[in-house]
Amino acid sequence: MVVLDNIKLDMPKDIGKDFLKHLMGGRLNTQIEKLLEEKRSVCIKNIFPKAVYETYEIEKIKNNSVYFKSGHIFNGPNISKILTGSEIAVIFIFTLGSRIDEIIKNASKNGDALSTIVMDSVATKMLNILGEKIGTFIKKEGTRENSWGSTCTYSPGQFKWTIEEQKEIFQMADGDKIGVKLNKSMLMIPFMSISGVYGFGPKDKINKTSTACELCPKKDCITRR
Ligand code: SF4
Repeated sequence: MVVLDNIKLDMPKDIGKDFLKHLMGGRLNTQIEKLLEEKRSVCIKNIFPKAVYETYEIEKIKNNSVYFKSGHIFNGPNISKILTGSEIAVIFIFTLGSRIDEIIKNASKNGDALSTIVMDSVATKMLNILGEKIGTFIKKEGTRENSWGSTCTYSPGQFKWTIEEQKEIFQMADGDKIGVKLNKSMLMIPFMSISGVYGFGPKDKINKTSTACELCPKKDCITRR
């Protein structure tokens, strides 16, 4: 199992701005711009990015279920579709840590809705940047063979992959190693965490869906890619 700690992120100076603009209906006033600048540096100081991942061999895919040689099973039509043609899958969890969660939660508890929205926007973008970085590491590891390629990433809770499948993900990648746990509702704590899977196999056989959003019907989703 690979554990990555102290991951350094290259963050654009205006991180969070586009996402916030979208949320606010297209433009930000001077007061929000100032708040964004202030809260951006709070977020940068209070994230502790970590990741854990493990590689598993796929045995077969049958009747909307993915069977691994380890005995683990994923169930769902989309995850089965995405992993069809892959020979291995890398199961991952990554997080920004609990500190940023606490700060956002406190702002919300104190009724500071604007700071909550601003920090939530910045942290969400940071989580995306962390995801891209972890994806690069994983793809380097998964495409050991020159003729191999990678699928898009897919996560429990996305369209037609039930959140209950988090249980299997956490059996396969040890969230404890980076301080991530599941609560009773199968949500990850810290909240600023993402889990999921990439498939790898011969380029001419792997599924070519470019992003999970391609399979999702939520056309007006603001984080659609
Ligand atoms: S469109 Fe939105 S909800 Fe659907 S998979 Fe993409 S990010 Fe998730």
